Amino acid sequence: DTSFKNLHVAILSSPGMGHLIPALVLANRLAAQHSVNVTVLLVTTAVSPPESKLLQIPLHRDLVRVVELPPVDISHLVVPTTQVVAQLCVMVREALPLIRSAIAAMDRRPDAVIADLFCTETAAIAAELGMAKYLYVPSTAWFTALTVYCQVLDREIEGQYVDQPEPLKIPGCKPVRPEDVVEPMLDRNELQHDEFGARNPTSFQENETLRSIIEIPVYPIGPLRRPVEPVDVKSDLLGWLDRQPNESVIFVSFGSGGVLSAEQITELAWGLELSQQRFVWVVRPPTKGSVDDAFFNLGTDFDGTPNYLPEGFIKRTQNKGLLIPMWAPQAQILSHQAVGGFMSHCGWNTTLESITSDLPIIAWPLYAEQRLNATFLAEEVGVALRPRVLPTKEVVKREEIESLVRRLMEHKEGQVMRDKVKKMKISAMEGLKNGGPSYKSMCELLSKIAVRKGNMNGLVG
Ligand code: UDP
Repeated sequence: DTSFKNLHVAILSSPGMGHLIPALVLANRLAAQHSVNVTVLLVTTAVSPPESKLLQIPLHRDLVRVVELPPVDISHLVVPTTQVVAQLCVMVREALPLIRSAIAAMDRRPDAVIADLFCTETAAIAAELGMAKYLYVPSTAWFTALTVYCQVLDREIEGQYVDQPEPLKIPGCKPVRPEDVVEPMLDRNELQHDEFGARNPTSFQENETLRSIIEIPVYPIGPLRRPVEPVDVKSDLLGWLDRQPNESVIFVSFGSGGVLSAEQITELAWGLELSQQRFVWVVRPPTKGSVDDAFFNLGTDFDGTPNYLPEGFIKRTQNKGLLIPMWAPQAQILSHQAVGGFMSHCGWNTTLESITSDLPIIAWPLYAEQRLNATFLAEEVGVALRPRVLPTKEVVKREEIESLVRRLMEHKEGQVMRDKVKKMKISAMEGLKNGGPSYKSMCELLSKIAVRKGNMNGLVG
């Protein structure tokens, strides 16, 4: 039976587009494929313009409801340099009473809570209110394994991970190169390292030992990719793309939070120009601090004038390129037939959007688990090129950028990767079909929740 219409599930999303989007996609999948009632609870300090736009898009009629919790004020708990992961954890912690009362006040108590990685502290609320609890990780199995195993690594390894001479060994999967660890593992002295360590599935399941880590049931339900929403047909962007030859444009974007240094922006502009390829580039002013500066600050203090680009760049590239300030309708751009390649930060939502749009990638990881994703794309599946240096460590020079863009867009190498991506997409889509592996996994999960609900009702009755 694929209908679970008696079930009500609450999905808890931490702030940020990269978290909100997969929460909404999961909600839609539960509703559309399995008839589940879903309430998405969004924790936030303030809703950014792209977030509020996204929330206006109609979700699955009747079955999905989005509740924006009242914004929490964390200004007294953080300083401007507090890192993103630590801020997210503090925000959710502050919002716990709001989450609890929102759930307690619901006419129909959810049967289960599905929380994202930063919302794991809601486990206590789930226990108190008698709901099943699950953790939602919209990223790779490799990332999940590293996250689960982080506690063990913390016990066994001394010193900084990034200084380890050998890759970090994790049972059952490829070792992780020290420089590829997720952002909160980069510096073990930072608050966000402790926050991250305390936030993995073992803490959510109240299990301690490695044995139980391995025994946590995992339901692989991906890939969860957002649908391409229609955009205004008369937009300049789509008009421009319509006039370009098929697969001739490279899309350049660094995700919801990514920002480059002033020097890197200059090199990138020159690299694109020298490559003589067509491009659409989502431009943001240079970072004043770290590479994820835009995460909590999307377009609030930027008037859109790209006055930080090399002199004459805009004029010289006016027939080849299009600049979009701050935020672009990425999923639509990627799926346009004129786009043939992607220079990307390799966030996981983005990666899925890229693969399902048949696009090979120039991997430019910046923060979160993006280095891990980039390594996976370049070395494991062979659909990405990478600069010789890590863009967070060194500036990638214009000559190398020119060559990467040409290799991706003009050379056979790019075409071979493009063909590979197309095959990957087909197998991913197979998994999602009714009866496919991801679909079955979801049914298995929902059956568990339904059986638990039945037992609870039996107890009450
Ligand atoms: N996105 C977008 N326009 C932009 C930048 C990002 O629509 O200008 C979307 C992108 O399509 C993706 C999400 O924001 O769905 C970003 O999530 P991802 O997991 O790729 O990484 P993040 O950037 O949040 O780390």
